[in-house]
Amino acid sequence: MAVKGIVVASTNGAVGIQAAIEVIRAGGSALDAVVAGIEPVEANPDDNSVGLAGLPNLVGDVELDASIMDGRGLRAGAVGALRHYRDAIALSRVVMEDLPHSLIAGAGAERLAREVGMTEMNLLTPASDDQWRQRLLRRGIRDGAFGPDLRGWARRVTRDPELPPPPHGTVNVIARDRDGNLASGVSTSGWAWKYPGRLGDSPIIGAGNYADNRWGAAACTGRGEKAMRCCTAHSVVTFLRFGMGLTEALTTAMEDMRALDDPYRGQINIVALDRDGHHGAASSAVGKTYIVQDDEMSSHEELVRLHIPVTAETDGRSADKA
Ligand code: ASP
Repeated sequence: MAVKGIVVASTNGAVGIQAAIEVIRAGGSALDAVVAGIEPVEANPDDNSVGLAGLPNLVGDVELDASIMDGRGLRAGAVGALRHYRDAIALSRVVMEDLPHSLIAGAGAERLAREVGMTEMNLLTPASDDQWRQRLLRRGIRDGAFGPDLRGWARRVTRDPELPPPPHGTVNVIARDRDGNLASGVSTSGWAWKYPGRLGDSPIIGAGNYADNRWGAAACTGRGEKAMRCCTAHSVVTFLRFGMGLTEALTTAMEDMRALDDPYRGQINIVALDRDGHHGAASSAVGKTYIVQDDEMSSHEELVRLHIPVTAETDGRSADKA
């Protein structure tokens, strides 16, 4: 018997959620819906946290991370530190379907994109380039002249007490199709001004993304190192498995992160969908939202996330002595 189709996403997924639900309405798979929902975000030049126009790493290179997971059979594919190609979610699916692997990073990911005929492009737009330069200029760094201590700059640029917390973002899309299959996808340009080659939670299955038809799916945005160290997306699904409701599962996963010793600033956010189509989301910051659209709704609805404080740093209030 057909079940209700539904798509849940981070709020920046608004440009793609309609495409995703149309896939479901047409009888398509949750997996196809996730890709259809994320691609418009990767192509959106106004979103500087995903795909084209994503903010670059410390040395000015845009490096994309993404993953996709099929809740039926727990198949997964991911790419990390992908340069020069925008289609990180589609490439993650190629990894899942065409390779005997789950994660391809760096030069290998770029090679794979070329091999399957994706379009090579400059991901850095003048606006994102300017934003990258301005933050460094505030610390006296011009034209990438960091000197030998790049590690120190990676710490200082992230925690600079004189500057607002670095902008961040990632797109999460979770879908349930009319056959009851779940799929989840995540795509991002990652932590802006990150150390070159840094991978976040987004391409790490279990950290920033997890889907299991038997229990539910979850995906994260925000400071990826927190989700990586607590296996947050997998934790939410495991808590569902052991009988918690969605609100309790989200709350427990957020509270787990209070054990982290993490002096770096950055909020953390989760969206989740259980196997029965219940949705929910949580954030360490106040007033954050997520979006949802089911197959009977003509447009999406924006809802406020549960606010679960993790530490003072997650609100961007930490003082940095570095
Ligand atoms: N989670 C992403 C990362 O850590 C970034 C973000 O969502 O802000 O790479």
